[in-house]
Amino acid sequence: DVILSVHDLHATVDGNEILKGLNFAVKAGEIHAIMGLNGSGKSTFSKVLAGHPDYEVTSGEIHFQGQDLLALEPHERATNGLFLAFQYPLEIPGVSNRDFLRVAYNSHLKAKGQAEIDVFDFDDLIEEKLDVVKMDASFLDRSVNEGFSGGEKKRNEILQMALLEPRLSILDETDSGLDIDALKTVASGVNQLATPDNAIVLITHYQRLLNYIVPDYVHVMADGQIIRTGGKDLAAALEAQGYEWLLAEATEVA
Ligand code: ADP
Ligand code: MG
Ligand code: MG
Repeated sequence: DVILSVHDLHATVDGNEILKGLNFAVKAGEIHAIMGLNGSGKSTFSKVLAGHPDYEVTSGEIHFQGQDLLALEPHERATNGLFLAFQYPLEIPGVSNRDFLRVAYNSHLKAKGQAEIDVFDFDDLIEEKLDVVKMDASFLDRSVNEGFSGGEKKRNEILQMALLEPRLSILDETDSGLDIDALKTVASGVNQLATPDNAIVLITHYQRLLNYIVPDYVHVMADGQIIRTGGKDLAAALEAQGYEWLLAEATEVA
């Protein structure tokens, strides 16, 4: 059951080609990690998936649950079950996290043709989801992300994920500043949310997170392509030996 398939994807930013023929596929029940040096195009790939307007797809195809993803507006991608943590605004002063999450949840219900959730039912639902990220209910009454620590912002992302139950979650691990407790909580949340029906893609420069979330596949990106795919051992090899050997091998083959 293929959830996402990407075929020969090329994309530009400001006229510069960043993705140069990327191929990638994810099936239900899988956890993938995409690793690579800074500047290899990992975040560009996640932004293309989200439909960020600065990123132009010049050729290639992306199918999500059998649909042409590129034909969908960003909000349609989200309500169809694609979750990208950074799609959500960083800080929204004056809007409580509870109201923000309820609006997001209702927009997903609406897209499915369902009625809005009752405010009290929502409170029960969201408090149950708080357990996934071990957050206190007082967290819901603060303004969205305002004054949140790096760890709290990450937990909030996982809370959004727990609530929206996406088919595919892309977590771009740009925040390397998590302390070990926050990292473990985030990892535990992700592990609780992984089911045989959904899939998760972790984008990370660091191997650290993969000590707590064990991926089925590890991909290495370099210069806008995936140059190597392996199992979890590949992440361990990168940790021990760095990226240079892989990049050298890739150059020989090319
Ligand atoms: P990674 O996430 O692997 O570190 P990025 O996707 O962020 O890599 O960046 C890949 C390349 O694309 C880099 O050379 C970066 O400078 C360039 N790039 C990314 N976003 C933009 C942008 N908005 N404008 C210009 N160049 C960009
Ligand atoms: Mg970068
Ligand atoms: Mg990045």
